[in-house]
Amino acid sequence: MSAPPDCLHYRDGNLFMDGVDLAAVAAAAGTPAYVYSKQYISERINALNSAFAQTRHRIHYAVKANSNLAILALCKDLGTGFDIVSGGELSRVLTAGADAASVIFSGVGKSVEEIDFALKAGISCFNVESESELRRISERAANLQRVAPVSVRVNPDVDAQTHPYISTGLKQNKFGVAADHALRLYAQAAADKNLHITGIDCHIGSQISSCEPLLEALTRLLELVDQLAAQGIHLQHIDLGGGMGVTYEDEEALDFAEYGASVQQILAGREHTIYLEPGRSIVANAGVLLTRVEYTKPAAAADAPSFAVVDAAMNDLIRPALYQAWHRVMPLKEAGLNGHTPWDVVGPVCESGDFIAKSRQLDVNAADLLAVTSAGAYGMVQASNYNSRSRACEVLVDGDTFRTVRRRETIEDQLRLERNLGGDPPGAV
Ligand SMILES: *Cc1c(COP(=O)(O)O)cnc(C)c1O
Repeated sequence: MSAPPDCLHYRDGNLFMDGVDLAAVAAAAGTPAYVYSKQYISERINALNSAFAQTRHRIHYAVKANSNLAILALCKDLGTGFDIVSGGELSRVLTAGADAASVIFSGVGKSVEEIDFALKAGISCFNVESESELRRISERAANLQRVAPVSVRVNPDVDAQTHPYISTGLKQNKFGVAADHALRLYAQAAADKNLHITGIDCHIGSQISSCEPLLEALTRLLELVDQLAAQGIHLQHIDLGGGMGVTYEDEEALDFAEYGASVQQILAGREHTIYLEPGRSIVANAGVLLTRVEYTKPAAAADAPSFAVVDAAMNDLIRPALYQAWHRVMPLKEAGLNGHTPWDVVGPVCESGDFIAKSRQLDVNAADLLAVTSAGAYGMVQASNYNSRSRACEVLVDGDTFRTVRRRETIEDQLRLERNLGGDPPGAV
């Protein structure tokens, strides 16, 4: 098994994130709580910028991985742009103080309202995923008397060798268009005065651990770039998407430096700006989900697991249930690492699929605090109110201080949107 993420370490037997004792966070903020390291996020962004330092490039942080305003503001301060997939994400990015001109808009189902919002805000590019979308964007631009900047998302038919749910670059997937189709869309866009072609993009999947599929995708995009140039269509940027993999258990993390050097080599002096859309690789290992053990349930039989029932559940972190994802579980007391019994760490939700981790050799007792690591990406953003559980709070650690960047949801927050038959809800029409 690999080492825990860099931002976590035991100091005198207590688990710290950077300079902060996580037990102090649990005492102040309660559990379950998502806790993120500002330093770790900054280091990842800086590392990716360094890896591509020799190439004209721009990082667009993929907001869907973790869309907390404080994290978006941090990314903005470090100079990244943003890759969004909804109007809601555009609102978040603008609220965080980012410039719309640093935003690119991906996704297969952009609505009229979302397109209008993005056009009025003045985003830098629409990553177009189909012919009907291209037509809609053109119509909306005409209607608003704007020119829409567009890039076509190409599906390079490359196998990212990742989990089927997070693979997006095969022709079976719903994303992007095939190369020949892309050429037709570019010809249409070039002839359309409501559209301005800025680049080409792809995103072949997530949690990709080797550079090969990403470089193969780049090579296929470059063939198209050259074909387009031969037709007089010149692109300013080439967007390679995100998908850079990280270590959860023993997976190889994608090597930023190797990726950057290989891209530079393949570009061979071309002038295009390279766009990157990293999400997971920036925030996954920056975050933990803090949780407290409510009860322990010893094994019912020799071949049955023992359960540690904790106060976090699949509604807080769905990755284990959804993708059989593995997350490390670290007791806040280092002594808890030395257990002899394998525990299944499970939540209170009424589903057998509600587990956080299985068969972990730990010493656990009721009331112990645990940190579920690598939870910074696709954790809080996929949280739900299933079982009418209120969503966790979020805390940002900055050196040896921390602050809450999203308060814990309350039951009043949950009930506010609903109305009782016969009752008189607030704001009833
Ligand atoms: C999800 C997504 C990303 C980010 O993927 P990661 O694996 O988190 O880096 C980037 N671009 C697009 C279009 C996406 O859908």
